[in-house]
Amino acid sequence: MNITIRPRRLRNSEALRRLTHETRVSAESLVYPLFAVEGSGIVSAIESMPGQYRYSPDEICAKAADCIAAGVDKLLLFGVPKHKDGEGSGAWDDDGVTQNALRSLKANFPKLLLIADVCLCEYTAHGHCGAIKNGELDNDATLELLGRTAVSLAKAGADIVAPSAMCDGQIAAVRAALDAEGFSRIPVMSYAVKYASAFYGPFRTAAASAPKFGGRGTYQMDYGNSREALKEAALDVSEGADILMVKPALAYMDVIAKVKAASNLPLAAYSVSGEYSMIKAAAKAAYGDEYALMLETAAGVYRAGADILISYFAPELANAVRRGDL
Ligand SMILES: [Zn+2]
Repeated sequence: MNITIRPRRLRNSEALRRLTHETRVSAESLVYPLFAVEGSGIVSAIESMPGQYRYSPDEICAKAADCIAAGVDKLLLFGVPKHKDGEGSGAWDDDGVTQNALRSLKANFPKLLLIADVCLCEYTAHGHCGAIKNGELDNDATLELLGRTAVSLAKAGADIVAPSAMCDGQIAAVRAALDAEGFSRIPVMSYAVKYASAFYGPFRTAAASAPKFGGRGTYQMDYGNSREALKEAALDVSEGADILMVKPALAYMDVIAKVKAASNLPLAAYSVSGEYSMIKAAAKAAYGDEYALMLETAAGVYRAGADILISYFAPELANAVRRGDL
């Protein structure tokens, strides 16, 4: 008997293609990042990220309602305070910008899952991710401040805290601080694998967090390395991380695949501001189709092994899932 192998047979119809589709995306796995500012009635456009805005605590609720309507009920919050200081004390201020946004969101939408970024760079006048001593990041002094920040965010309603300072020992420090204050049920999402990347450019404008001197290369990873990602991930697992993250996503698909293979924890990939703005810019210049580029890059991140996608396209992606495009 002659058997003819015809792989294309499975693409005979859209229904068949979808039946045998390898990569499935669900709206439940999407997280939308949001920037909170102080005041009221504020929706200010982020020039470097067309279609993205900074919201005051009242307006952020209107945006959350839109996200929920689209099918996205997980948000990652970043605070952009008016006043910054040498220490970054706004980060652990119980009346701080992120804390107020969290309280406002929780009060209006108790079922929203709120993830709070834990870092100091949005709050420090120098723009670095922690305390500075002799012109360099003081790792151990920063750990205590990150712990204090995580506790304050948990008190304000964060369901998950996500330390992103890339300090050695930050997961253990944040875990210990949470446990000591009665927040042992709050999971820690670790930015375990965070590369020093030019793709963060638009975010730094959005959060006004560009370092005033030096770079972050001493504490973020070198993009030439991928085995180092496994070392960083393993360390964070040993320190008690509950969810791992790779950031950025697009230029690091191999890293996503490797971390996924090496760990049993849920894996998030953060498709960062530059990935978003690059697609927006290409579409604006008519170099590519925005919707198609968005779908293809998102599918690629999941195909690489991500369980969770943090994306500025999250509401649009959820709509695409509902339409059966993804
Ligand atoms: Zn930072």
